[in-house]
Amino acid sequence: MTNTGTFAAATMLTAFLGGGPASAQTAATSGELDPRIQKLVSSISEERMNTLLTRLSGFHTRNTLSDPNLPNGLGAARQWILDEMQKSSPKLQVSFDTHMIPASGRITQETELRNIIAVLPGRSPRRIYVSGHYDSLNLGERGQAGLNAQGARGAGGATVPPAQGAGRGAGGAGRGGGPRSDPNLVAPGANDDGSGTVLSMELARVFAESGIEFEATLVFMTVAGEEQGLIGSRAHAKRMKEQNVAVQALFNNDIVGNSMGGNGITDGATVRVYSEGPEDSPSRALANFAKRTADRYVPSHQIRLMARRDRFSRGGDHSGFNAEGFAAIGFRESRENYSKQHNANDTIDGVSFAYLAQNARANAAGMAVLALAPPPPEVRASMLGRQPSGYDARLRWTASPGAAGYRIFWRDAWAPDWQRELYVGHVTEFVLPNKNIDDHVFGVAAVGPNGHESTISAYVAAPRND
Ligand SMILES: [Zn+2]
Repeated sequence: MTNTGTFAAATMLTAFLGGGPASAQTAATSGELDPRIQKLVSSISEERMNTLLTRLSGFHTRNTLSDPNLPNGLGAARQWILDEMQKSSPKLQVSFDTHMIPASGRITQETELRNIIAVLPGRSPRRIYVSGHYDSLNLGERGQAGLNAQGARGAGGATVPPAQGAGRGAGGAGRGGGPRSDPNLVAPGANDDGSGTVLSMELARVFAESGIEFEATLVFMTVAGEEQGLIGSRAHAKRMKEQNVAVQALFNNDIVGNSMGGNGITDGATVRVYSEGPEDSPSRALANFAKRTADRYVPSHQIRLMARRDRFSRGGDHSGFNAEGFAAIGFRESRENYSKQHNANDTIDGVSFAYLAQNARANAAGMAVLALAPPPPEVRASMLGRQPSGYDARLRWTASPGAAGYRIFWRDAWAPDWQRELYVGHVTEFVLPNKNIDDHVFGVAAVGPNGHESTISAYVAAPRND
């Protein structure tokens, strides 16, 4: 007997594929909901987010380039966020994450930029983030609708992908210079991105006060400089990379509070999640995980997965994390109203708190399961082979700390989502007889003793021509 699961496979596969009572399934309780997470999700308060956003959108402006000493301006706003996070739970370690940003691109002069970070330490230092950007922007009366009319080049918080960052500022027609981009104009930013900011603040309170001891460390972050090209998120991600901090995931939320589109179409029951490819990238695996988890814990709200980095020619802070190699996804409301973005009309009356709370619940479910589950197993192309017969699928993986077992997944090579799954127990190798590895994609997730399951690590082929 080896440590391979080959032998067991035949029996289990029969039960599983035959649709009979799959004992393998019950072994890992994947279908059961954790009452602690249900309680956490249900304790998210619309009312508190309303109170927070009323105050936040009442600051004159939160523009990163504005005068921080302006009465009721940027300096007061960021201090208020820090104080509120501190007040919400003694378990949170709250601080400014400060960066000096030299003048470049849309940063017109050297600027002291401050993100606000609230850390809820877990047993492991690996980090799971949720974020929104607290900075706001007023480009003049037409706001984002005006930018959209100009075409892709000037649109969005971060138009140009990080990889093409050089010369980003040059594209900002209507942003650089001129009275329209005066950083001291009133900019309430209630939805963009007060919504993501208060969502992150509310989740800080809910997670810290849940009484749950999480495996992972949770980080609730509100970011500055998004509107100048993801400056705050990029600076933070870079710092984490340099300090070798294990960043497992970022759930970014930007424009997640409005359910009525500018075209009059309303959708309060779905939210879009964007992720950088290619297929089976860590960010795509995270997006898939977020949907699977939200489907279970918040079935009244649907995540619509989008197989692209972000909206067309627009961007957000998850890409700042992607740039440092971290898995990150972006939540965006399903129906935007461009006439209420990047101008003085982005006021609190455009925010539906019932909708915002549903988005907060979808985030919370994913973060909680991820923070209670073991880290995903490590796999490489060389760990998927055709042994022992030469026509089988043999999967091997590196054990995850704290895992009680593993679940394997597969699908046709053309299918967008996993089609089959099988709990294989506490092994690090498994054989699916006569399963052709050329025709299928395979993955494996770690399952903790509590039944919580990691993201799925997929076997991605190494490029070859022979
Ligand atoms: Zn934004």
